[in-house]
Amino acid sequence: MKLRDALKLNKDEVKSLREDILSKAKQSKINAYISTDSSGDGVPILVKDNIQVKNWSVTSGSKILQGYIAPYSATVIDKLNSAGLSPLGRANMDEFAMGSTTESSFYGATLNPHDISRVPGGSSGGSAAAVAEGSAIAALGSDTGGSIRQPASYCGVVGFKPTYGKVSRYGLGAYASSLDQIGPITQDIEDCAVLYDIIAGYDPKDSTSANLEHTPITPNLDADKTYTIAVIDNYIDEANSDIKEAYSLAIKALQDAGHTIIHKTMSNTKYDIATYYIIATAEAATNLARYDGIRYGRRAEDVKNIKDLYVKTRSEGFGDEVKRRILLGNFVLSSGYYDAYYLKAQQVRHLIRDEFSKIFDEADLILSPITPTVAPKVGETIDPLQMYKSDMFTIAINLVGLPALSLPIMKNADGLPVGLQLIAKTFNEQPIFNTALSLEKRVNYN
Ligand code: GLN
Repeated sequence: MKLRDALKLNKDEVKSLREDILSKAKQSKINAYISTDSSGDGVPILVKDNIQVKNWSVTSGSKILQGYIAPYSATVIDKLNSAGLSPLGRANMDEFAMGSTTESSFYGATLNPHDISRVPGGSSGGSAAAVAEGSAIAALGSDTGGSIRQPASYCGVVGFKPTYGKVSRYGLGAYASSLDQIGPITQDIEDCAVLYDIIAGYDPKDSTSANLEHTPITPNLDADKTYTIAVIDNYIDEANSDIKEAYSLAIKALQDAGHTIIHKTMSNTKYDIATYYIIATAEAATNLARYDGIRYGRRAEDVKNIKDLYVKTRSEGFGDEVKRRILLGNFVLSSGYYDAYYLKAQQVRHLIRDEFSKIFDEADLILSPITPTVAPKVGETIDPLQMYKSDMFTIAINLVGLPALSLPIMKNADGLPVGLQLIAKTFNEQPIFNTALSLEKRVNYN
């Protein structure tokens, strides 16, 4: 059932829908849910395990947060409740949202419902896999460098990363605060607009929230509006043949729908990767300093003194990828290397923003790949650098704060979904949804 239909059900129908989804979640074999909770009475929604729901255990997929109970709800949860939705479970994720596969979770890997030998993507892999499988109607994820769009693409569902500041981060476990955004993962574009309209809007509790009224997307959805759409020719060269095929298909569909395609090039994505992994790790090292065994979650036992407590708690509590990023983040922020790495990365971030601005002088939207390949096999992405490289098409969006939506375009010969993303200027999200809707109708993925 679609979210927009579920929101029209009466109380008894919602109750039986919750029971139905709950039993699907319990029977599921893909480890998308960390836990379920049947106490709510609204339309069921799955929530990534880094978004606080009052009185729930919330752990960001980490051992270090075992035992932590959320003392308050995130603003997005309050908004869901007011709209008649209730969280039904915690979605599995990469530890602290660091990763691209959902293999680094303390709770074990989530599997891709299209092929269980493959990953669902990450870090919001549980959210995307459950929506794809039908064990969730819709879900919330978070996107710091692609973690909504990439798993949505690998699982054949829709994911939206809003403009930075459009959705409150209050109650979201911070990974990299200048990049993080919560967003919807849904079965289709209309549901995505519905869920986005529910969670968007100014929040005085988040100092980076944009003080703007949210103009609802849903009543203004118009698949017949046409736009100028830029394609980045040198980007697609870096993707494999499945992605290239989806790209050609989408361009043709957009042209048939009356959109104008223009061709552009951008700097090599290797600058995006370097810049992102300096800024994201610097912010992560800072944000994760709070997990010291005193205030949140798990505390190491048999310690000699306070320093030993910190060291032991953090050594036992964090997984390898998280430790790697804390080390890298502290390194780039250290006094001897700050100028060479962190400051330089902030400067390059401005150059990347300027490059996007130039394209948006001529185009309303950009069509871009999300990943260079379809979903990899479980265990295949052991090399961290190889994993970071797979983020090449998604991370610049977060560095600049742009909105971007990922939608499924086709399946490859092995039946694996291929998605693409539409990107727009900050706060200019309606054209993304209008165009995505026209593309969805034409490519006929489902
Ligand atoms: N894969 C990227 C990373 O590991 C993005 C993660 C995210 O968006 N949360 O940092």
